[in-house]
Amino acid sequence: MRSPAWLERLLGSALQGGPLDAADGSKLLASDEELLLEVVAAAARVRRRFFGARVKLSFLVNVKSGACPEDCAYCSQSRASTADVLKYPWIAPEDAAELAERAAAAGARRICLVAAGRRPSGRDLARAERTIEAIRGCRPELEVCVSLGFLREAEAERLRRAGAASYNHNLNTSPDRYGEICTTHSYADRVATATSVGRAGLSLCSGAIFGLGESDAEVVEIALALRELEPSSVPVNFLMPFEGTPLDGARGLSPRRCLRILALLRFAFPRTELRLAAGREIHLRTAQPLALQIADSIFLGDYLTSEGQAREDDLAMIRDAGLEVEDSAPPPAGDQPAVAPRRRGPGTGAAANL
Ligand code: SF4
Repeated sequence: MRSPAWLERLLGSALQGGPLDAADGSKLLASDEELLLEVVAAAARVRRRFFGARVKLSFLVNVKSGACPEDCAYCSQSRASTADVLKYPWIAPEDAAELAERAAAAGARRICLVAAGRRPSGRDLARAERTIEAIRGCRPELEVCVSLGFLREAEAERLRRAGAASYNHNLNTSPDRYGEICTTHSYADRVATATSVGRAGLSLCSGAIFGLGESDAEVVEIALALRELEPSSVPVNFLMPFEGTPLDGARGLSPRRCLRILALLRFAFPRTELRLAAGREIHLRTAQPLALQIADSIFLGDYLTSEGQAREDDLAMIRDAGLEVEDSAPPPAGDQPAVAPRRRGPGTGAAANL
């Protein structure tokens, strides 16, 4: 069976590192179930072309949790949430470094330091600097990414000088939908910080959350808006609708929808790191190995306020999919210990999406 012309065009453009055509992207999102494996296979060819079999591992360190004055509807740490999440001030730099050490030993290349809040104070920035230095002091090879909310260019420069490689600031959703998920800041505020980060010479990590009720056209719009920012990595979150958040109970994602969204983003970002982030376990479920044929990067272990899949299970999934952790020797064939099946729920706390 010949692939539809729109899929051939998406594939042809992406294999050349070219742009995403919006009309073809919409066709992908609306495509029939019988075309799903063809869509995944085409996106997998793009992944293989630019990333081979590599999977980059990142690890989240929630350096300051809860009590955020913003009202992001998807977030368990927001003032609009009654979710029972841990609240604590900044953890000590040496504790963050110890967590980073353990993650590096498991194969993580990037450590993502995340602090809840609208924007960092001068004290927060000084703490972030000390934490970056502590991590880089023990593991200079690790990339440190920081996520502290809104940031001015001079503040981003401070983080870069301290050794940060990148800054995370997601666009989250489309401009028109932004007012439905947050009233304390705007889409334009987020674009402004993403732009400051680039000006300061930090690489930008910026992605979105899907499952907020967005239409196909909005998914394409988000992908194109992210492309304009030229991020070096794109985290893809699927909403974790936890109890106590305004989006508690929100539905609308299936594993097949998640795969189509990922494929669309692969075509939009053929050469850019595409990271499976929060919600992959509960929305992709047993389709995670297929998603790994599209995305080239995952978070290892837990998210900000919820448990992820056990890291041993993630590493086994990567091996079983015929992929390999970036910068690690491929495992010898056939002699990996089997990992016992383990059931995990989405975690008892609510999850922020990153
Ligand atoms: Fe605060 Fe960030 Fe959560 Fe929004 S997503 S409520 S800014 S911690």
